[in-house]
Amino acid sequence: MGQYDDIIASYEDKQANLRRQLKLLRAVAEKDGQKAGGAVNAAIRRINSEIRDLDAAIDRCRGKSGQLQHPTSSSAIRIGAHPGANGQEVPLAHLVFRCRKAKRVITTGIEITRDLFESLPTARTMRCRFCGQDHPWEAVEQAPDVRALMSLRAEDFLGRSLQSDVHAATAADPGIRELYERMASQWFRLAIESEDKANALPG
Ligand SMILES: [Zn+2]
Repeated sequence: MGQYDDIIASYEDKQANLRRQLKLLRAVAEKDGQKAGGAVNAAIRRINSEIRDLDAAIDRCRGKSGQLQHPTSSSAIRIGAHPGANGQEVPLAHLVFRCRKAKRVITTGIEITRDLFESLPTARTMRCRFCGQDHPWEAVEQAPDVRALMSLRAEDFLGRSLQSDVHAATAADPGIRELYERMASQWFRLAIESEDKANALPG
């Protein structure tokens, strides 16, 4: 039951994020409607259809409540989760930052399909709380047992950043891609700032 609520909540969160992007795009469309009209409108249509897809996914979750068989991490933000051709869910990888020096792994609480991860335009790094160096993110099949968790707030921002990265990766129009890349960078910076703040707290 709890797992379902979490999944629904993460879908709703994605919808809220998409609606914010929609607002931005509509502002762009209004500002230079003549110039970028076609591409912006295409992006708006695509986001609208993503929002509808999520509605359907939420309905499915509610309809099938109690039938969820495979365990999912309860608080994961899932990106690109969708049924594959055979109706089975496409497997998700865990997004982590690994410190080989301290032999620690920071799990982000975000899961993403490998295809999407590999299509991302930007590899991002995070300053390590154990050794102070920057480590790149990785997608791993198994969340390691010994791990440190990212703060929830940072996880939320990182999820938004990643979602924008995914949109940037699939945007055909350079202007739209740039818009998403900029949003992804901004969210990522917020994620890093919150993570730094969380780690600066005593205890
Ligand atoms: Zn490190």
